[in-house]
Formats: sequence, C-alpha cells, structure tokens
Amino acid sequence: MTEKLTAAKPDNLTAVKGMNDILPPDSARWEWLEEKVRQLMACYAYRNIRTPLVEPTALFVRGLGEVTDIVEKEMYSFEDRLNGEQLTLRPENTAGVVRAVAEHSMLYEGGKRLYYMGPMFRHERPQRGRYRQFHQIGAEALGFGGAEIDAELILLADALWKSIGLTDVRLEINSLGQPDERKAHRAALIAHFEQHLDVLDDEARRRLHTNPLRLLDTKNPTMQAVVAAAPKLIDMLGEASLAHLNTVKAILDANGVAWTLNPRLVRGMDYYNLTVFEFITDRLGSQGTICGGGRYDYLIEQIGGKPAPAVGWALGVERVLELLKEQGVASPAPVLHAYAVIPDVATLPIASQTLQALRAAGVSVQMHPSGADGMGSMKSQFKKADASGALFALVFGADELARGQVLIKPLRGGKDDLANAQVPRPLNDVASWAATLQSQA
Ligand code: ATP
Ligand code: MG
Repeated sequence: MTEKLTAAKPDNLTAVKGMNDILPPDSARWEWLEEKVRQLMACYAYRNIRTPLVEPTALFVRGLGEVTDIVEKEMYSFEDRLNGEQLTLRPENTAGVVRAVAEHSMLYEGGKRLYYMGPMFRHERPQRGRYRQFHQIGAEALGFGGAEIDAELILLADALWKSIGLTDVRLEINSLGQPDERKAHRAALIAHFEQHLDVLDDEARRRLHTNPLRLLDTKNPTMQAVVAAAPKLIDMLGEASLAHLNTVKAILDANGVAWTLNPRLVRGMDYYNLTVFEFITDRLGSQGTICGGGRYDYLIEQIGGKPAPAVGWALGVERVLELLKEQGVASPAPVLHAYAVIPDVATLPIASQTLQALRAAGVSVQMHPSGADGMGSMKSQFKKADASGALFALVFGADELARGQVLIKPLRGGKDDLANAQVPRPLNDVASWAATLQSQA
C-alpha cells in the first residue's frame, strides 16, 4: 500500500530550498530574542502554548478561508501514507491555537492569554525575508471581546521592539468591521471592480465574486490605482465598530504609541474582523511587514468550537532579526569564562572534576580536547584557548596540581587584579573563587 521511499544520491543531500539552517553564532541572536520574548510575555501574563507542526488540512481550509493565498497555493499538504488522512504543515499558528483551545475547553473558566514560537511552512518563492520554513512568534488572547485587549497586544508588540532596540517600524491600523458591515462593503467592492475588469489580473478576476476583499491585498503594482480608489470599509462602519476602534486608538495615544489609519489594510486571512494592524518597516524592501494581527471573533466557532471572541498577532522572526542587523544592533556574543589547558592526559580525571564543580556554580568552561598525540603542546593549547574567546585559561599543570591548586591565567585583560595576574586557586574549594571568574564577564 505504501510507496517505496528512495534515497537521493549522497551529493544531493542539502537542505530543502527556502529552508535554512540556523548556525552559531547567528543562533545566539535567536536565543537572545526568544529570551526577551519570554520575559516580556511573563510581564503581560501570557502563557506558552505548544501545538503540533502538523494539523488536519481542513483546519486551515476552514479557518483561513478557501480563497486565500495560503490555502490556494502555499500549503505543504500531504496524505498520511499509512491511513490516508489529509495533513498540512502549519502555515501559521492561530488556527492551531484555536483548535487546541476549543479541544481542551480552555475558555471554560474565562479568557486565556497565550503565546507561541516556532517554525511555519509556506511554499513561496524564496527571497530575502521570505522563506519556505520561517519562524513566527505569536500572541493570542482568547475569550476577550474588549478593545483594551486589542490595545494590550499592540502595546506588547511595541514593548518588544523597544526591549530589543528596534526603531524603524511604524504601526498601521484599520477596522474590518462586523459581518453585516462587511456584506455591504463586499457588494460595493464588487460593483467598483466590475467597472475596471481590464486592469484586474487573472487571480483578481477569479476572486472578484468569491472573495473581493482579497483584491485589496494584491501585490500586483498595476492594480494599485484601482485598489486605492475602491470603496473603504471604514466609511461603512456602524457606531459600535467605530467605538471599538476609537478605544484602541485612545489607549495607544495614552501610551505614546504612534499609529496611522490605513483603510486598505485587510490582512491575508479571512478570519479577521474589527481591529487589524501591521508593524511595517521600509528597510526590508517589499518584505516590510514584520508583524501582523487583529481580532478574529468568529474563528473559534468557524472551526467547531463554542463561540468566543479573540485577538492576536504574529511576527516574523527572520524579518525582525534582519531589521536588527540592518540597524546595526550588535549580536550578543555568548560568554565563555574559561578554557581548560591540560598538559597531561593523566590529569583529565581531576581536571574534569574541577570543571564540573565550576559549571555547577554557573561558570562556562571549555575543555581542551585530546588528539592522536595526547593533549598536545602547551603552546598549541594556549593558541586554542585564545581563539576560543575565553576570558581565562585554567592551567592544570603538574606543579600546581601537586600543591592542590589550579592556575588562572587572564587571556583578555580586564577589571581587577585577577585580570592582570596569574593566580593559583584551590582545587578543593571551587565555590570560593567561581564567582570571581563570572564577575569578569
Ligand atoms: P506577506 O504579505 O509578506 O506575505 P503575510 O501577510 O503572508 O506576509 P502573515 O501571515 O500575517 O504574513 O504572517 C505574519 C508575519 O510572518 C509576517 O508579517 C512576516 O513577518 C512573517 N512571514 C510571513 N510569511 C513569511 C515567509 N514566507 N518568510 C518569512 N517570514 C514570513
Ligand atoms: Mg504571505
């Protein structure tokens, strides 16, 4: 029943196009960003949720909408070879979070604030800031209908930019109203575009009657003028929708977060209503949206859960890191406190004991590795110690060991005496000097 799997020739074994390896030292930047996010999410009382990378295809078709870029052309979908289930590598994670929330009745006792980080998959044309496996960090607040939660999420994103030193981003907001307002707008949109059929591309013509809102999200430059002239949803909003938007604006204003209203902002998925927003930069070319989100009050119901309002956003990690690099924000280098220089193989057991005690006390230490010629010359070991970037060498020489000591030799120069002199320290009381090594970082 199953097809035969064939192995590629060994010289074909490279990463899949558009899917990147993230290697050190770049990976340190990723960890740094993730840590900042964890700290910030804790401050806003958002809790981590981890859902599968693979979901039933129907979740995305139903959740995101059949006539969307993602569902029409970007999903990695496949049939489970063993049971024939239709599955998809998640192209985004709002639908997955909503599924989990509904499946586990998580809103039973009230709203939930959640966040996630992880890879997403979309079959797009790879280019700078656009990959086939990319990473998102997302925040979702489910079970809350108030505009203050929309604002809270925007403030959270803004606080993240501040905490990582990102500056060149602007915030655009819009309101997509409620279904009845959308209906009136939809009719007006169709009427408008029907008068300009000649400038619509094939995709737009095909979508005109199934999902005209999508035409506003087109990336086709020749359609921009007719899109700009299209009727605006914001002009058709009722009092309640406008009040919701105004509350969001007022909270942003009170917190000094600048925004501009972009009546063309629609986002790529069908599930949004009321508030939508994007954080955009001009420094990454056409891949300038670093974060997007909005309210999705009907999605939970749409995928079969008990109706509940919700709002959230997702940011593109690659684009955020690219922008940071563009702005010259320095990458945090990992600290290595010490490099262990070990002249004799016979010393390895006692040296390793000391290193374990240091690591248990929070000191980072790298041990010189043996080779065919044993531990190698002192000169070559010091060369490696220097190249490692360590602040100190720990020298496990025979004379020091005989006295129950290890010699600490500064490699970089630094703050106090320890940085300038070679100091012997007792092997049997690592705790007494471990903190001194750490304090030099
Ligand atoms: P775009 O208009 O650039 O295609 P999108 O509207 O499809 O973006 P969303 O689905 O809203 O993007 O995803 C949220 C964020 O995830 C985007 O703002 C972007 O930063 C990032 N993102 C989306 N697709 C990719 C991708 N293929 N590669 C890298 N980052 C991406
Ligand atoms: Mg896209």
